[in-house]
Amino acid sequence: MPADPIELARELLRCPSVTPQEGGALTFLENILERAGFSVYRVVFSEPDADDIDNLYARIGTAGPHLVLAGHTDVVPPGDETRWQHPPFAGDIADGVLFGRGAVDMKGPIACELAAVLDHLAANGGRPKGSISFLITGDEEGIAVNGTVKLLQWAIARGEKIDHCILGEPTNPKHLGDMIKIGRRGSLNGTLIVTGTPGHVAYPALADNPVRRIVTIMAAVMADPLDSGSAHFDPSNLEFTSIDVGNKTVNVIPAEARARFNIRYNDHHTPTSLQTLVEARASAAAQGRHFRIEWDPSNADVFLTRPGPFVELVTGAIADVTGRQPELSTAGGTSDARFIKDYCPVVEFGLVNATMHKIDENVATDDLLALTAIYRRILDRYFA
Ligand SMILES: [Zn+2]
Repeated sequence: MPADPIELARELLRCPSVTPQEGGALTFLENILERAGFSVYRVVFSEPDADDIDNLYARIGTAGPHLVLAGHTDVVPPGDETRWQHPPFAGDIADGVLFGRGAVDMKGPIACELAAVLDHLAANGGRPKGSISFLITGDEEGIAVNGTVKLLQWAIARGEKIDHCILGEPTNPKHLGDMIKIGRRGSLNGTLIVTGTPGHVAYPALADNPVRRIVTIMAAVMADPLDSGSAHFDPSNLEFTSIDVGNKTVNVIPAEARARFNIRYNDHHTPTSLQTLVEARASAAAQGRHFRIEWDPSNADVFLTRPGPFVELVTGAIADVTGRQPELSTAGGTSDARFIKDYCPVVEFGLVNATMHKIDENVATDDLLALTAIYRRILDRYFA
């Protein structure tokens, strides 16, 4: 009998695993994977001023090629549970739709990965022609310091060598098969700081208003695009997200003005090239007057998994099951793929993202069956 991704998803949804709680979700996976012959490791990571986080790594097989299926069992909080038509941690099904926090992001896809792997193993004498691993973190929706980044370091330190990875984050705007993610833009934060000389607002000549200078510098920084885009990416973009003077009075010219900004950048840039470009624009606008920019450390660099045999294997499996030729996208926010890309090519493909993080998050049970069929095809072809 084939493994049932719908029942697996319901069981996972009944585990209240809001970050940082494990909620029983990893234990559920551990028990199934152990029975299927995986070596399963539960790894807890700590960090000062952060919650300890439980993670899971499980491998079957010793030979290459080694395909890793990655994901997270933690979920964002449900918010006001009385606003849900179906309770967030019940696994209710109504009219062919499964409801629950994490239905698409991303317990549903983990259930599909699991069902596909169990079926693939059953059809191949219980062992893959290579190795399959699950890399499942409980720290993706939180600050993500005790999750995938450390679990990968832990696995590599044990001598694991990974050839390819599929991450089941929700990637499809409307229909299963619309879109896969083959890369992500980088993200860099900075703060522009201009100091002046405070004084009475009626005597501006005796003061130096930093608000005048910061708006000039901001306008110059925003005036032109950072680049014109690349083969697989939209143009890099800088957005100011906050302007802060903190002045409670109406008659004092303030001493300092700050403006925070975020840059989402493509493969034309690195954090260093962006710093150089933005500081040059700011310098030109400041005309020798003082300003400074504080740059936050970034752990979200741009990456691209170049189209090739692995990407074609995934898109081919999607086209076979859904009849759709998925768009190869790099849009949207960052994901744990930004850590995985340091070790192997990674492609993201999961469910429809329309209800993720929302009240009544849900997935059509037909989509769970179709996604399982897609993952199964990927496994069959990968190990053919
Ligand atoms: Zn997610």
